[in-house]
Amino acid sequence: MGVQIPLPAFIMICLAIESTAHTFSAGIVTDKRKVLSNIISAYTTPKGGILPAEAADHHAEVCGDVINKALQKAELKMKEIDFIAFSQGPGIGQCLRIGATAAKVLSLKNKIPMVGVNHCIAHLEIGRALTAAKNPVLLYTSGANTQIISFEGGRYRIMGETLDIGVGNMLDSFARHIGIGFPGGPKIEESAKKGKNYVELPYVVKGMDASFGGILTNLKHKYDSGKYGKDDLCYSLQETVFAMLVEVAERALAHCNKDELLLGGGVACNKRFQQMCGIMCRERGAKLFVPEKQFLVDNAAMIAWTGILNFKAGVRTKLSESTIKPYWRSDDVEIVY
Ligand code: AMP
Ligand code: MG
Repeated sequence: MGVQIPLPAFIMICLAIESTAHTFSAGIVTDKRKVLSNIISAYTTPKGGILPAEAADHHAEVCGDVINKALQKAELKMKEIDFIAFSQGPGIGQCLRIGATAAKVLSLKNKIPMVGVNHCIAHLEIGRALTAAKNPVLLYTSGANTQIISFEGGRYRIMGETLDIGVGNMLDSFARHIGIGFPGGPKIEESAKKGKNYVELPYVVKGMDASFGGILTNLKHKYDSGKYGKDDLCYSLQETVFAMLVEVAERALAHCNKDELLLGGGVACNKRFQQMCGIMCRERGAKLFVPEKQFLVDNAAMIAWTGILNFKAGVRTKLSESTIKPYWRSDDVEIVY
């Protein structure tokens, strides 16, 4: 009887690119759920607000460097990469185009396949991969997006969403208005800790959707009137809009009969928001999952992992199909894995 030498298990390695909005990121992940690198370069402006052309210029400027750093950190050469994944949408057209072009160049030059990934679904998949969540409701709160997503009837369905701006954009706009800098979310979080008095604000939940534009206008008027302190307004803002999000998330859990809530997006870095979600989950016997910060914000590791799920199921994005999809809805995505 010969000695059995175990063959090394075949490992599939994906390099992915994320560039839907302010962040350009390159990440390398294996099909064993190992994140080998996740390099993130965010475009910021002192006054805030994304100027699409400027963000795209930032991405074009850093893209070579970020991709090289991702390879270096993973201790890999390009020839060891099996395929490329990229964020195909939704997002800002000019920004998406930089990432998609970089992906096409890498795919053609290295003669390896490409997989286009939906950014919103990637937030959910990385959470499922790196936490114990199995079939969660995703409360996705970022700069541009605010969605509650759940897998129902073979697709990721948007159970509820913002009717106007994303909650992060709303925080950033108010922070800009009161001159506390950008990104506004963390600054508002700090200011809110010092707030003591709750100031009544509009609370706008319509069915499963929420709206933030009117609250923003109301807050700006209140601030400009000089009758209210900055800290009290930031505190009241957080309590109000987070309560709205928690309410809709709770209804989604009840409606979908699920007991796992997963957070995604930059706003989910907020500790008070996490605490409020935690209280709601505890009260209804559900579990809350919060991925670590580098996987909450826009990042390429989540694109790589979602790329791997698709690639293993046979998905390939041909050059002729690789056009960006700025308005790609989560519920329009075929789920084949
Ligand atoms: P993303 O688009 O997912 O990368 O998230 C960016 C958004 O997250 C911006 O609007 C930030 O203001 C917001 N954000 C980041 N950190 C915090 C925080 N600690 N509290 C609230 N919002 C935050
Ligand atoms: Mg995002």
